[in-house]
Amino acid sequence: MNCELCGKKTSRTTTVSIENSEIEVCDECKSYGKEIFKGKGDISSKNQILQRIKNKKRVGRSSEMDEINKKELALDYSERIERARIEKNLTQEELAKKLNEKKSLIAKLERSDMRPSDDLRKKLEQTLNIELMEKIESTSTKKSESSKGLTIGDLIDTES
Ligand SMILES: [Zn+2]
Repeated sequence: MNCELCGKKTSRTTTVSIENSEIEVCDECKSYGKEIFKGKGDISSKNQILQRIKNKKRVGRSSEMDEINKKELALDYSERIERARIEKNLTQEELAKKLNEKKSLIAKLERSDMRPSDDLRKKLEQTLNIELMEKIESTSTKKSESSKGLTIGDLIDTES
């Protein structure tokens, strides 16, 4: 048997993969390639798997594009509310009065115990001059029921 790489006579060859072709090499040359333990089917099935992964990625990317215009309540809405309130030198009570809501409601919002309704969110955004909605980065972001209506409304607006 001869090594296909250096041509040396050898008693034992190893099948390795170098730049997608399989060759029989001697022990000295086998470090140049990746050793293959199974038959020829391996390379093609590996390519098929890679292809499948690539396809999946492409699909994932395009659905992300679809999501780009969708917005939902920011995960850190409670921090945004609290920060803006403090910046405006308002107590929870004062903010509640401005919004015509109870102080306990503001406390719940700032503890993330409660998500604001669409109406309340808009009032908070206007009063505190903040943005509580943010773009959804991926489809895995959990959807909230309160933002669902708004999302559909956005879509209708875009289409008409
Ligand atoms: Zn060799």
